[in-house]
Amino acid sequence: MLTQIKDLAKSLAPTLSEIRRHLHSHPELSGHEQQTAAYVAGVLSSCGLQVREGVGKVGVVGELLGNGSDTRLLAIRTDMDALPIQERTDLAFASRHPGIMHACGHDVHTTVGLGTAMVWAQLRDVLPGRLRFLFQPAEEIAQGAAWMVKDGVMEDVSGIFSVHVFPSIAAGVVGIRYGVLTAAADDLEILIQGESGHGARPHEAIDAIWIAAQVITALQQAISRTHNPLRPVVLTIGQIKGGRASNVIADQVRLLGTVRSLHPETSLELPAWVEQIVGGICQTYGAKYEIKYHCGVPSVINDFRLTRILEMAATEAWGAEQVQIIQEPSLGAEDFSVYLQHAPGSMFRLGVGNRDRPNYPLHHPQFEVDESAIVTGVVTLAYAAYQYWQ
Ligand SMILES: [Zn+2]
Ligand SMILES: [Zn+2]
Repeated sequence: MLTQIKDLAKSLAPTLSEIRRHLHSHPELSGHEQQTAAYVAGVLSSCGLQVREGVGKVGVVGELLGNGSDTRLLAIRTDMDALPIQERTDLAFASRHPGIMHACGHDVHTTVGLGTAMVWAQLRDVLPGRLRFLFQPAEEIAQGAAWMVKDGVMEDVSGIFSVHVFPSIAAGVVGIRYGVLTAAADDLEILIQGESGHGARPHEAIDAIWIAAQVITALQQAISRTHNPLRPVVLTIGQIKGGRASNVIADQVRLLGTVRSLHPETSLELPAWVEQIVGGICQTYGAKYEIKYHCGVPSVINDFRLTRILEMAATEAWGAEQVQIIQEPSLGAEDFSVYLQHAPGSMFRLGVGNRDRPNYPLHHPQFEVDESAIVTGVVTLAYAAYQYWQ
C-alpha cells in the first residue's frame, strides 16, 4: 500500500505544484476564501468525491466512502486562508492580490489535502472506511473551525488528522509531537476608570495611569508566584491607551492583551485570576474597573494513538532519521483544537525549510516553502489514514 501511495503522490507532484502556485498567487483573507473554495470544490468534484460547499460559511467538505470494510470515519483538516501581509518574495507566482499573502503556508496545506484526496480517490476500492476532507476558512482569526463544527462536519467522525508547515524543519522531515502542541489563546481588555485632576494635586484625583502601571506589574509578578511553574502562562499587554496632557491626571486607561497557557486546568483558572488581581488593586486605590476576558481557542492536545499512527506512517515512509519528535510545545494558537473537542486527533509539522537559502518564519513577508514537502505531506497523511483503519 505504501509503495502505491508513494508512486501515486510522486506522479501527482507536477499537478500539485501547479495547484499550490495557483493558490499562492490568489490568496484570500480569513472568511473571504470564495475563489479558493470554488477551486478546491472543482478539484474534489473532478476526482469524484462527494462535495459540499458553503460549509462553515465558505468552507468545503469532500467525502470518499471507501469499500465499507470499516465503519469508522476519519477526517483530514486543512485550512485555506491567507494573511493581510504584502508579499516581498521574488517568486514568479507571488501574490497577485496586493496586501494579501499566503505567509502561513495554508496554500501548501490546501494542496496537501487535495493531493491526499486525489491519491485516495484513485485507491478508493481499497479504502477501508469513510474519509472526509475538511477545507476550513478563517483559521488565522481562530473562527473557521467553530464555523465548520457548527455546520456538523464532526458528525460521525472518530478521528482527525491535520498538518501545519514549519520553516525551521527541513523539507523531507516530518515533525511529530505527543501531547500538547499549541497554547490556549485568550484576549484580555481591562478598562481602569479613575478621576481626573491637576497634575500638581494628585491627592485630589485617582490616577488611572499609575494604577494601570501597578496592574501590569502585579499581573506579571503574580504569574510567577501564583501559578504552577510547570504549567506555563504568558500574559502580554500589547496596547495601553490613556491620558490627555502632561499636566492632567488621566481618568481612564485601557489595556489590551493576550494570555497564553498550555494546560486546560490553568486556562480555566485564568479569568478569575485576572479579576482578582485587577480588582484588588483598583479597589485599594478607589478606581473602578471593567474586564472583558474572551476565552479563545483551547490548546491543541494531540491524542497518543493517532500521533503514534502518524509517527509510524512517517517512519515507514521516510525512515526514522526523517522523523523528528518535537520536544517542546508552542505558545502559538491553532483552532484545530476546536475539532479535538469532538474526536481525538493529531496535527503534525511538515518541514518546508530549504537548506540552501534563508528560511524566514511564518507570517513573514519573505516566507517561502520548499515545494518538495508537498509530496512528503501527501504520502504521510494518505498512509497514516490507511494505518488508522488497520
Ligand atoms: Zn498563521
Ligand atoms: Zn497557519
